[in-house]
Amino acid sequence: MGHGKHAAGGCVTSPGYENPDPARAVRNKTDVPAGDAVLLGQLFACTEQGGALVAEATDGRLLHIDGVPSGLACNCICPGCGRQMVAKKGSVQAHHFAHYAQQDGRTCVSAGETALHKFAKRVLNDRLEIALPAMIVKGQGDQEVVVQAERRTFDRAILEKKEGQIVPDVVLLLRDRRLIVEFKVTHACGEKKIARIREMDVGAIEIDLSNYRDHRLNDIGDQILYDAPRGWLHNPREREAREKLQDRARERAEERQKQVGRLQRPLSPPNALPEERQWRL
Ligand SMILES: [Zn+2]
Repeated sequence: MGHGKHAAGGCVTSPGYENPDPARAVRNKTDVPAGDAVLLGQLFACTEQGGALVAEATDGRLLHIDGVPSGLACNCICPGCGRQMVAKKGSVQAHHFAHYAQQDGRTCVSAGETALHKFAKRVLNDRLEIALPAMIVKGQGDQEVVVQAERRTFDRAILEKKEGQIVPDVVLLLRDRRLIVEFKVTHACGEKKIARIREMDVGAIEIDLSNYRDHRLNDIGDQILYDAPRGWLHNPREREAREKLQDRARERAEERQKQVGRLQRPLSPPNALPEERQWRL
């Protein structure tokens, strides 16, 4: 199975995590929103080695390994690839979820990120509002506001999978406009991905959730929507703003040039007649 090494390595132990009361878990089975007992950081624990602390129930809720029955009875799938998961809750290894069918050899490094994206999509769709960070481009003592920092409403949030890409983006739609929302938890958005976003010329922001890893998912809705630090990865209107700055800088330079010209005129040598004539045209 290949899980023994990391499972024994303590990645499953999660300081501060309280085992959910099993009775409560059953009682709330239908009305608990996704992520009730799952900490943000637990989505990303161990997934690179193949064992996971969190899996997805058939209704889309995210469940912690402590809150499910052992074996296939957990009735869970991997949030990354959708394959069936088995809950390994023996007495030797630390408890974890593993993919049930390992024979195809596929690894699944994006389960945590995809789980977060699915969760964020729900939160965004519930509220249909997000705080956008400001984007102001500056240069030569001048500036142009591309976006004011303010709350914006949108029509809906979707998960959009790009071809050749494993992890789907959370995309906000406002009429025909799209805004990609990235999340930073373990590492910032990679250069490759940013290059792809620039190439597509689609607006994209990154929300930094790295300070909320030990918070329950259900407690970070407002952080996702409004409070967590955020910045622009790309804005299609940035180019236009930079061009405006350049235009204004050029105009100022030309104006300075004219003033210099006016000052220099009386100082021109008397034999510079052709140039003098030009000036008077
Ligand atoms: Zn998977």
